[in-house]
Amino acid sequence: MAGRIRQADVEEVKARTNIADIIGERVALKNAGVGAMKGLCPFHDERSPSFNVRAQAGFYHCFGCGESGDVYSFLTKMDHVSFTEAVERLAGRIAYTLHYEDGGAAPEHTGRTRLFAANAAAAEFFRAQLQTGEADTARRFLGERGFDAGAAAHFGVGYAPKGWSGMHDALKAKGFTDEELTTSGLVSQGQRGVYDRFRGRLVWPIRDVTGQVLGFGARRLYDDDKGPKYLNTPETTIYKKAQVLYGLDLAKRDISREHQVVVVEGYTDVMACHLAGITTAIATCGTAFGSDHITVLRRVMGDDSTAGEVVFTFDPDAAGQKAALRAFADAKRFNAQTYVATGPEGLDPCDLRLRRGDGAVRGLIEHKVPMVEFVLDQRIAGFDLASVEGRVGALRASAPVVAELRDALLQPEYVRVLARRLGMDTEDVRREVERAARAGGRRESGPAAVPAEEVVGEPLVRVTLASLPRTAAVTIERDAIMGILQFGHRMDAALIARALEAPFRHPALDAVRQAVRQAGDMQRPGWALDAIGTVREPYRSLAGELLAADFPALDDTAALSSASDLARRLVIRSLESQKSELLGAIQRVSASSDEGRTIRLRLRELDAQRDELTADI
Ligand code: ZN
Repeated sequence: MAGRIRQADVEEVKARTNIADIIGERVALKNAGVGAMKGLCPFHDERSPSFNVRAQAGFYHCFGCGESGDVYSFLTKMDHVSFTEAVERLAGRIAYTLHYEDGGAAPEHTGRTRLFAANAAAAEFFRAQLQTGEADTARRFLGERGFDAGAAAHFGVGYAPKGWSGMHDALKAKGFTDEELTTSGLVSQGQRGVYDRFRGRLVWPIRDVTGQVLGFGARRLYDDDKGPKYLNTPETTIYKKAQVLYGLDLAKRDISREHQVVVVEGYTDVMACHLAGITTAIATCGTAFGSDHITVLRRVMGDDSTAGEVVFTFDPDAAGQKAALRAFADAKRFNAQTYVATGPEGLDPCDLRLRRGDGAVRGLIEHKVPMVEFVLDQRIAGFDLASVEGRVGALRASAPVVAELRDALLQPEYVRVLARRLGMDTEDVRREVERAARAGGRRESGPAAVPAEEVVGEPLVRVTLASLPRTAAVTIERDAIMGILQFGHRMDAALIARALEAPFRHPALDAVRQAVRQAGDMQRPGWALDAIGTVREPYRSLAGELLAADFPALDDTAALSSASDLARRLVIRSLESQKSELLGAIQRVSASSDEGRTIRLRLRELDAQRDELTADI
């Protein structure tokens, strides 16, 4: 285990890293105001973005839950890595050599970093094995499904050889220990030592949004293989099957750009979709699509509008229907339209592409139907609608689906759709839907039914931007300190020093003023973040808000001049209050006294200073 990373290196790596790039890999960010970006907070459940990122300050802040910090605290909270690992990861990105306090320079001796490295090495090994003579069956398997060598390379597909220790030996030679290979799930522990987990299989690397290999999915190739058809990496500290999505690294950009995601069932379906031009396709890995996947996808789609769409493709068999219904229950959490696409003759995207070509795969997605209609059809399908009993039964089975629609416009529309399908009176259907809604409401009552956004606003005694009084005096203090925190690095240092000299009237803003006044060199990257760290509690989160908030300005230049104006106004305000004090004092002394003369001189000085500043505004 290496020692502490040298502080100078920690600072240097932070200064050279754009926090917006790092956060942007995990959360879809949009420009929001000058120098700011916004997205859906990854730390709490929300539908409209209150998560702000300021690249220049190296800072993020969520106005919803109050989470804030620098790029290291983001990585430790988001990816659950240690501080050291966070620094090492970012250093790795920019190929920066870290130095350690004990003189060592062994950057990759922490757990997760080694797991990523082992998985990357294994992926490389599998890929190379696909070229060997033994991999003939694997290559044929791919070829029969319409995937050539180029496709295999694009998706990083590999082959795990039949022997018990081929991969193990190769990775041992690269310096990985048995313990590391075991914790990464690449080998299994047997009676006589460890052996390769994946043997005689086609292997797909499963990567995270940043492209790091988390684990593998492996398909059986040989008849004498008694294992399951698909075998995945077991749960490890980096591979969580409820969260991983195959293809997300390749689809991420288009998902975010097109506000569409296509959820397919298997690795070959993802490949077929991408090759056919549906580059937003992803698949779950050995588990049903669930709420954790939704959380991951919402972060990537990152949209507050309802324009986004999620298209599920399912086998129309019983298991597929169950999956659709479960997905429907979860999809209600999505702030997007959900659809189901089922292929002709129940063909999955891979078979569809093979038999009818790329155009057919695109057609499959084009002919999607709204999830609600799909689910209603599933519910109704088992009833004989020619009989009264059948229609009533179908109504009872399908009314809860319509009752669960929260959209005030959508619900009456689907009441009519359902009435038409069942051949029943709209009013009867509406009554049954209302009854189902009441029954459903009772079942869901309790803490779990409270939307997460309402839980978040806990009654903390904390001063927020929104809670500040709206008086002119407080407003100028608020805006001026906001401007300095955000644009101080480009403002005149002498002006800032003068603006922060006199105490502020609002105690919370004054606490921020004191901290900023002590900040020192504002040219130094990250100075504002450091200054916030020194604000005394309970005002630190207010300081964070001031740094993250939208500074009202049209562009960068306007922001800079507006921030400077505000600083000048603060100085003028202080000059004017000094002046009124002196005007009071001059009444109490004789005009011809020395004291009187000094005051008059000082008054003239104040006026001159004020005129000079006013001319600049
Ligand atoms: Zn938040």
